[in-house]
Amino acid sequence: MKISDKVYIAGHTGLVGSAILRLLKAKGYDNIVTRTSSELDLRNNLQVEEFFKAEKPDYVFLAAAKVGGIMANQTYPADFIFDNLTIQTNVIDNAYKSGVKKLLFLGSSCIYPKNAPQPILEDYLMTGFLEPTNAPYAIAKIAGINMCQSYNRQFGCKFISVMPTNLYGPGDNYHLQNAHVLPALIRKFHEAKINGLSSVTVWGTGKPRREFLHVDDAAMACYYLMQKYNDPEIVNIGSGMDHTIREMALLIKEITEFKGSLIFDETKPDGTPRKLLNVDKLRSLGWESVIELKEGLASTYKDFEENYFHYVHPSKRRVEVQVAHV
Ligand code: GDP
Repeated sequence: MKISDKVYIAGHTGLVGSAILRLLKAKGYDNIVTRTSSELDLRNNLQVEEFFKAEKPDYVFLAAAKVGGIMANQTYPADFIFDNLTIQTNVIDNAYKSGVKKLLFLGSSCIYPKNAPQPILEDYLMTGFLEPTNAPYAIAKIAGINMCQSYNRQFGCKFISVMPTNLYGPGDNYHLQNAHVLPALIRKFHEAKINGLSSVTVWGTGKPRREFLHVDDAAMACYYLMQKYNDPEIVNIGSGMDHTIREMALLIKEITEFKGSLIFDETKPDGTPRKLLNVDKLRSLGWESVIELKEGLASTYKDFEENYFHYVHPSKRRVEVQVAHV
């Protein structure tokens, strides 16, 4: 992928897409194509077809998706399967038809079976039952992986798929009900501190283990793989380390300087007991994460505090944030 190539980032306002956009701009790419969802509804095949015919991008980062935390997945299962299937189907098929040189499809670590051995190897895909709380999302992503592989086989495309672990960082969704755990807790602890509350409620038992990766690290891994990786088999993107939700809540309590106590609401779902990716394949390809968790969370909290108004009123556009590491 050369600096002058035309690169389309699908989902450039989302957590991962915005990080890829920051990274490419920092590296000097100046032929980047983006569309907001109001300019181009990726669920509408006609619109997507016209867009690809008109723009003819060379490279595509497919980071557009309907995403959310455990509660959003449980509340809107139909939206999660429909939006993700249609978005990825339209983008992948039209990327093929318009002659895109290479496409990178972003999957998710929740494609793996609920009780997969840990850390999770790429080979464990389709070896067991999925975690029911996010099965519609996972099934859509599995279909996307297979679609990329099938287009490679039948049409000779170069479409690769990567599976990032739980991501966090600037540009995240901080919705109290629908967000993932880290942004939800950052907001809860921050608001509890500024409102002088005595406790913060953490969902579930606090015992599940999750792996977290800063989104700027994930963007760098995507960029690296776009340059170097050409195999149809999936690649995990993670930090290789996991923590309990209780540990994460205590770390965010420390970073936000909240002085009260934690309450665990065990009526809320825990989800899958552990989700730690095996990142040996990525390491053997020559890439490793660099942003340490505490440092990444501290800078994420700073960005959240500085842009608080925009994060709690997501309809208002927020300012662009700087890339942490290039
Ligand atoms: P998951 O990784 O797909 O399970 O998605 P989440 O990031 O939404 O949740 C991860 C874990 O954090 C689950 O065990 C949740 O119950 C727990 N958790 C604790 N507090 C919260 C919260 O305020 N929001 C969310 N989304 N999860 C929370």
